[in-house]
Amino acid sequence: MSKIALCPRCKTEMRYVTEVGRSNGSKQVFRYYYCPACSLRLLDESFRVTIDGEAVVIRFSQGSRRPIVVGR
Ligand SMILES: [Zn+2]
Repeated sequence: MSKIALCPRCKTEMRYVTEVGRSNGSKQVFRYYYCPACSLRLLDESFRVTIDGEAVVIRFSQGSRRPIVVGR
């Protein structure tokens, strides 16, 4: 049984999107649920990777609002 995520606003099936961006030498990854019907975005997790000299710094954060997950 697979799980699908429903939009908490309009109950449409949400898509899972991964987006990668770069700024000032650091790389940022966003993973979020996107509702094609009402354009609602719910951040699932994001992390920023920064190279600081020899060290690689990873900052991780997680979204607090969750979609409704149901089995199909
Ligand atoms: Zn929606």
